[in-house]
Amino acid sequence: MGAEAKKETLGFQTEAKQLLHLMIHSLYSNKEIFLRELISNASDAADKLRFAALAKPELFEEDSDLKITVDFDAKKKTIRISDNGIGMTREEIVENLGTIAKSGTAQFLESLTGDEKKDSNLIGQFGVGFYSAFIVADRVEVFSRKAGEPAAKGVKWESSGESDFIVEAVDKTDRGTSIVLHLKKEEKEFAEGFRLRGIVRKYADHISIPVMMLKEDHGIDDVEEKEDGKKAKKKVPEYEAVNSARALWTRPRNELNDDEYKEFYKHISHDFEDPLDWSHNRVEGKLEYTSLLYLPTRAPFDMWNRDAARGLKLYVQRVFIMDDAEQFLPMYLRFVKGVVDSNDISLNVSREILQKDPAVDSMKSALTKRVLDMLSKLKKKNKEGYQKFWDEFGQVLKEGPAEDGANKEKIAKLLLFSTTHNGEPTQDQSLEDYVSRMQEGQTKIYYVSGESFNTVKNSPHLEVFRKKGIEVLLLTDRVDEWFISHLMEFDGKQFQDVTRGELDLGKLDSDEDKKQQEEQDKNAASLLERIKTTLGDKVAEVRTTNRLTDSPACLSIAEDDMGTQMRKIMEAAGQAIPESKPNLEINTGHPLIEKLDKEADEDRFNDLTSILFDQASLAEGGQLDDPSSYIQKLNKLLLDLSN
Ligand code: ADP
Ligand code: MG
Repeated sequence: MGAEAKKETLGFQTEAKQLLHLMIHSLYSNKEIFLRELISNASDAADKLRFAALAKPELFEEDSDLKITVDFDAKKKTIRISDNGIGMTREEIVENLGTIAKSGTAQFLESLTGDEKKDSNLIGQFGVGFYSAFIVADRVEVFSRKAGEPAAKGVKWESSGESDFIVEAVDKTDRGTSIVLHLKKEEKEFAEGFRLRGIVRKYADHISIPVMMLKEDHGIDDVEEKEDGKKAKKKVPEYEAVNSARALWTRPRNELNDDEYKEFYKHISHDFEDPLDWSHNRVEGKLEYTSLLYLPTRAPFDMWNRDAARGLKLYVQRVFIMDDAEQFLPMYLRFVKGVVDSNDISLNVSREILQKDPAVDSMKSALTKRVLDMLSKLKKKNKEGYQKFWDEFGQVLKEGPAEDGANKEKIAKLLLFSTTHNGEPTQDQSLEDYVSRMQEGQTKIYYVSGESFNTVKNSPHLEVFRKKGIEVLLLTDRVDEWFISHLMEFDGKQFQDVTRGELDLGKLDSDEDKKQQEEQDKNAASLLERIKTTLGDKVAEVRTTNRLTDSPACLSIAEDDMGTQMRKIMEAAGQAIPESKPNLEINTGHPLIEKLDKEADEDRFNDLTSILFDQASLAEGGQLDDPSSYIQKLNKLLLDLSN
């Protein structure tokens, strides 16, 4: 006890210090957001109290009218934001306002460039929070008393936002938290009635509890009691709510404007940028619930962190129950933010119960459909917006076919690809686009996958497709082979890796092509034999090919072997990979092959064959087993040439 009462000076956690510094220096163009953050925190604190009081009504201390009050003092240049929410203990205040709990913060900070303009955008995706107070204030005091604790358990936190803060025990009779901002000289305009009112109204509109301000131009000095207790008040202070204080999602769509939706998004998501799109729905019938789902504009910095918070804010009959209720959406839609408010879930629900509740299951599948429909609409009505979405979240969506087989077809329609049609790395072609351009007699959707766009775009395997004008998908994301293997087909057409197995173009091959091929095969028998002897067990088989028009040779993989990208993923994960050998396919019409066939000198034949094999493997973006031997052989040939 005694020790607690003492005044203590504590240092900010390193990351908190860095973030504070950045915030103060890079958010100058959007200063007023500190009010959004502080009002948002006050509203969260009210939500938390209401939830805790479900089990312990005495926490309300006979004051269940939750509200936020914003006061100002123009003379002293101060703003005060008070709430009667859950409040904080001394430990909590040190923990919450001295550190940054988000995992991945260190990496996030490393990713910053030092360029303040660029970084201010990045900070946005991190969420600025309480520290934004220091954008406008050079000193911040926080007074707090946790609900259910005696007045003597109050705590004061104070800092100038540099390297440390002070905590000390104070008496605080009223429950909750009060934040006093001592504005920097140049920011004093925020402590003026008209300006402040305007901003508060903007950021409080969607908040579900009243945000109170003094009527008209009353300043805080008008209300303070004189120390001697005399009636010294000039005016009777009259407060009024500046917002409608109805939970935004409970209001009908036609009463809400875009700005209100956007502000609400920022409140629940801790995001800084406007959302890309949203969908607001009330469902009545067997289950009754309201959902408001948002697509962010930008991926959060921790999207690939498995433990990162995800999911919706859950309310039951307007009462906040929990953040990050991940039971309502599948993992591959983890970028969606929003609120679900249900009438069918019990108020004392827990995460464990949610997992087993069949009502939650049906809500999950309905909400999943909602999101997929919202995406599909966005794709139709706003190509540019959808492209933005795809660039940020396309990789995550590709997890869908594996996780959610039932919605495979819907997800497939949302995918975007690069293809040989436009030959650009911009992924902007859909499978529907592809199918609409399919050739007569074409039954498959062809793709080639590899490490980089240039590797796949210039793959020798595409030669015959180019000749016949057949479109091929160019896949370069690491996950592509894996997700295609789960997707399997689209619109009744199977996916076919162009580097796999014997190329069977079905009806796309004319009888003439086929005859020519057979002819070639017959004549090439002895050459194939010679090559196979030279390469030995580097290859499974040597055969002629219909894949090539310009290149002399290429490698193909057996029908059931693992693709190259999958191999790399498994390798990186340290997993054992089944051994497999490629086939070497040669283009008998190519002058180099003709030359090889006529080569009588065994040594030169062997060298040429090795070079051909190595080149075929290089063209796939593969790595040579013995690059220096390749170079030696090639140089020898080059010398021969110049003699
Ligand atoms: P976030 O709101 O994203 O968690 P903030 O930086 O805004 O991050 O706030 C940090 C934490 O401080 C909050 O999570 C909350 O626990 C605590 N906090 C801030 N403001 C209040 C408040 N008015 N009442 C109670 N707790 C608060
Ligand atoms: Mg916050």
